[in-house]
Amino acid sequence: MKSIKSVFKIGHGPSSSHTMGPAKAAQKVKALYPNKLYKVVLYNSLALTGEGHLTLMVIKEILKNVTFEKQIDLSVHPNQLVFEVYDHETLIKKIPVQSIGGGEIIFDGNQTVYEPIYHETTFDEIKAFIFENKLSLMDYIKKYEAKDTFTYLEEVFSQMCHTIEEGLTTKGVLPGELMVQRKANALYNNALSLKDGSLKDRTLLSAYAFATGEQNASGGLMVTAPTCGASGVLPAVLYFVYKIEGVPKKKIIEALAVAGLIGNLIIQNASISGAVAGCQAEIGSACSMAASAYAYLKGETIDQIEYAAEIAMEHYLGLTCDPVGGYVQIPCIERNAVAATRAINASELALVLFDTRKISFDMIVKTMYQTGLDMDSKYKETSEAGLAYFYKELEKRKKL
Ligand code: SF4
Repeated sequence: MKSIKSVFKIGHGPSSSHTMGPAKAAQKVKALYPNKLYKVVLYNSLALTGEGHLTLMVIKEILKNVTFEKQIDLSVHPNQLVFEVYDHETLIKKIPVQSIGGGEIIFDGNQTVYEPIYHETTFDEIKAFIFENKLSLMDYIKKYEAKDTFTYLEEVFSQMCHTIEEGLTTKGVLPGELMVQRKANALYNNALSLKDGSLKDRTLLSAYAFATGEQNASGGLMVTAPTCGASGVLPAVLYFVYKIEGVPKKKIIEALAVAGLIGNLIIQNASISGAVAGCQAEIGSACSMAASAYAYLKGETIDQIEYAAEIAMEHYLGLTCDPVGGYVQIPCIERNAVAATRAINASELALVLFDTRKISFDMIVKTMYQTGLDMDSKYKETSEAGLAYFYKELEKRKKL
């Protein structure tokens, strides 16, 4: 596995696979073939939801002289693009790119080769290593990660806080045809007026998740955790513990590292891409990461941390990706808030029930991936089914 740094990328929303990945590819094409004419063929999920995910807009900003074509071909990757480079009328190069999730790309058949820094690739292997060598989970992470990882994680947490704070104070309507009202500010103000402590806490947690989701949907600067669409879950939980419970920043950074390790295991053994495995791979992974971080912050054992991450993923199995109109807004933003609450609930259950469990984290990750592969492709970020379909039908009927 790679460094946990690769799980958390600071960049612009609204989508790691539909915005960050294609932007990275366009930058590479521009650097290799500057001042040419370009045509970009977008396939499948990118063709169907690229407008709402701002794919076309970011590529246009980088390449300028560019035209687009959209194609459906289920024999290629769900997030495939082909960059055609022209010198006047003559095609000089065709570059296939796959945007594989979390902002990572395979460019012209070459995936960036990273030296794996972890020897273990499953949670079971990590646990065995830890027990054999009498290490703590943090000792284990620190054994492999360079010191600069923790400096980077500080930067990551500071961006997470900044995104939440900006989102909490911004009002108005999100970009796009849906005219979705921003809700973070109203939720936050409502929370402040509440007397009931636990309702107040839950409403604040939701407000933090909405704040990041809304910043992401507006193309704001945020952190993938592990993707843009699911970027509100982990920051909401960490910000809540930091601001409301007063846990020191050093501990929060360690919890971020634990969440990164969980995200890394999911990337290694499954997928974090909604176009590959449905929303269970995005929101399910984010919830799992947040549950592990919260369990770590509450002093839970490695078994309890594993169980928290497992519970958090288990109850998202089968969750489809059906963004209305192709925008990362409905159901995405609300899903982040619900998942933040669920992450804490998973950690609380794990604390009490860990010694009765039958399912391991590795098993749930394998199950999530297989479920995603078996899922009908229309439920994997195409906006052709689920909520996206019924919303579109309703809009059509209103126009008759
Ligand atoms: S429905 Fe889930 S996977 Fe799909 S775009 Fe929204 S957050 Fe991402």
